[in-house]
Amino acid sequence: MTDTNGDVDCLFCKIVAGEIAADIVHESATTVGFRDLNPQAPTHVLVVPRSHYANAADLAAGEPETAAHLFHAAREIAASEGLGDSYRLVINTGADAQQTVFHTHVHLLGGRAMTWPPG
Ligand code: 5GP
Ligand code: ZN
Repeated sequence: MTDTNGDVDCLFCKIVAGEIAADIVHESATTVGFRDLNPQAPTHVLVVPRSHYANAADLAAGEPETAAHLFHAAREIAASEGLGDSYRLVINTGADAQQTVFHTHVHLLGGRAMTWPPG
């Protein structure tokens, strides 16, 4: 099930619902931010919509205003984490792009120098 009512088997829906614990650093009416369990940088926060969409394309098609909210939330979290104006936002979309959790999420990474390309 990939509609906005949530997915009973979705890890991030359970975090949004408070059914699975997470280190939550941001909450708004439409978005939640929590620290990644396996951080890849000193700051590694996942920013997710409360609504369940499997990937960024589905979110953009179904709830474009919430897609914009993700970027606004990332900006607020970057500021509260003291990242200044230097951080990276990553949205893995699809298995070949290393998406492993199929509830749209933006990785907010910061606090260290980055390299490019990401690989
Ligand atoms: P993806 O590979 O789909 O772009 O990113 C999924 C992210 O979710 C990974 O960086 C992974 O470390 C993180 N993750 C997986 N399970 C959990 C969990 O139970 N709690 C938290 N906070 N992060 C998780
Ligand atoms: Zn979900």
